[in-house]
Amino acid sequence: MIQIDALPAFSDNYIWLLQDTAKRRCAVVDPGDAGPVERWLAANPDWALSDILITHHHNDHVGGVERLKQLTGARVCGPANERIPCRDLALGEGDQLDVLGVTFQVLAVPGHTLGHIAFFSDQPATPLLFSGDTLFAAGCGRMFEGTAEQMQPALARLAALPAQTEVYCAHEYTLSNLRFAQAVEPTNPYVQQRFDDVTRLRADNRISLPSTIGLERLTNPFLRTSETLVKQKADEWKGHSNPTHVAVFAALRSWKDTF
Ligand code: ZN
Ligand code: FE
Repeated sequence: MIQIDALPAFSDNYIWLLQDTAKRRCAVVDPGDAGPVERWLAANPDWALSDILITHHHNDHVGGVERLKQLTGARVCGPANERIPCRDLALGEGDQLDVLGVTFQVLAVPGHTLGHIAFFSDQPATPLLFSGDTLFAAGCGRMFEGTAEQMQPALARLAALPAQTEVYCAHEYTLSNLRFAQAVEPTNPYVQQRFDDVTRLRADNRISLPSTIGLERLTNPFLRTSETLVKQKADEWKGHSNPTHVAVFAALRSWKDTF
């Protein structure tokens, strides 16, 4: 069993800290800044950083890698198809890796970037997903490098993971994502409930994560392209019919870009 905590970085990033309490080993996901991890390690001097997991090459995810590698010698595991500083293990679709005794599967999820990967562990009680900037709570990343033809199936695949899967994404964007979800589905009671819940959390400056795949299926418009009302809204936005999931997704994504 590992414990997972968020180390906030920059204005809205989370660096996920995985802890093997028995062995006093830890790992981090997407350390865009070394500072928060360094401070945690300094406050916990009997702990060792064993692994650094990277989902994609953006600087707010890899900016701290070189410094942490230098400081701890931790193994750097990241996407094979992107330029990742100090990478020891190049990962792609179907690869498996052991982190703190937990087995993770690597899923290729192109769209936000072309080489973006996600880490999924099918642990019996609580499956885990580290989704980087691909699947956010109630939203998804912008398509900087990929196409809707790539990103929509990637998200659909994440949506098909077990409902109880805990989703650890890399940014605190949930509340603004839910404002968009309300615009897409003004009558979805789960969106309304979640908006109220997250509004309360954020008013107390509390984290809105992790999410679960089950909650995302109910409230994330980008996973709900097969809903008639979602398609209707996408059609209204575009001014024409969007006949496929990919087209509905592309319409939602372009709407969100200007929302
Ligand atoms: Zn990014
Ligand atoms: Fe990011």
